[in-house]
Amino acid sequence: TYSLGPKISSWDADRRTWLRKNPQFPNYVDKKARILLVTGSPPNPCDNAIGDHYLLKGIKNKIDYCRIHGIEIVYNMAHLDMEMAGYWAKLPLIRRLMLSHPEVEWIWWMDSDALFTDMTFEIPVSKYNDFNLVIHGYPDLLFDQKSWIALNTGSFLFRNCQWSLDLLAAWAPMGPKGPIREEAGKILTANLKGRPAFEADDQSALIYLLISKRDEWMSKVFVENTYYLHGYWAALVDRYEEMMEKSHPGLGDERWPFVTHFVGCKPCGSYGDYPVERCLKSMERAFNFADNQVLKLYGFRHKGLVSPNIKRIRKESVTPLVNVDQFDIRHSLHESS
Ligand code: UDP
Ligand code: MN
Repeated sequence: TYSLGPKISSWDADRRTWLRKNPQFPNYVDKKARILLVTGSPPNPCDNAIGDHYLLKGIKNKIDYCRIHGIEIVYNMAHLDMEMAGYWAKLPLIRRLMLSHPEVEWIWWMDSDALFTDMTFEIPVSKYNDFNLVIHGYPDLLFDQKSWIALNTGSFLFRNCQWSLDLLAAWAPMGPKGPIREEAGKILTANLKGRPAFEADDQSALIYLLISKRDEWMSKVFVENTYYLHGYWAALVDRYEEMMEKSHPGLGDERWPFVTHFVGCKPCGSYGDYPVERCLKSMERAFNFADNQVLKLYGFRHKGLVSPNIKRIRKESVTPLVNVDQFDIRHSLHESS
């Protein structure tokens, strides 16, 4: 069967030795695990120029979040393995980044069409000390319903360790483009509730693996649903004004969603499950909702959630440092920790 690369079996020991020999590249800095956020898009332009504009907004949004929270970021546009093109491309990429960045403790994959919408919220990393994969989902949908949307592979974290390399190896075999992916799609559709007939996708394959090899894998998988590590856009985008009125950033859940993910929208491709206009308008709203949280420090906000134009929210000050103390998100984070 297909393999992502030569079998590595001593990664934990090898990495530990490397970390000891390279104290200038620690996997924990100030007791905080080093996190690398990974995202990307296809090597070629979108079918439609507007798709590239929203990819740009998607990466600007991630750069802002990562800068505020001290997270490193990789944007990949290459297909490391042609057999794993499309949504499977994240697997060889995550493996490659683990092996090339032993100093990184967590690799956080995020789809191009997922936006941070709570710029203050931070992942409660220490909650996952005993786990190696953190993914949004619902255990009952996974094990009782066997639903194909029980988990979402648009935003998840892998610990850099042997277990994760093994899971990637077990996850990959349905990925190779062509007859393998096609045939595997039939197995997935036959076994997962609600799944339409199409080739094997990474999300269904992971769900199927965890259901069928539950005892082997689940003890190290944290299925998170106390905040939106992934949040389904259609249930969120029309409520942003209400949230701004009644709530505040930092909560990450339905009161102020951490991530808004545009599942079923394909602004960079030619087909999708929703009308393109609705998708683009909703993406614009999510982007501006998030961007307002960034612009606040600088004294601006968008005129409305669908407007790229901004307006001032306070006068220029002769004592600008007062505003830094009050509005820099990083200050409130460090005070509370
Ligand atoms: N992706 C990539 N290269 C590709 C295709 C997809 O890096 O050639 C990434 C991109 O970030 C995308 C994610 O993989 O958001 C999931 O792919 P999918 O086809 O499901 O796209 P989506 O529906 O998320 O736009
Ligand atoms: Mn997506």
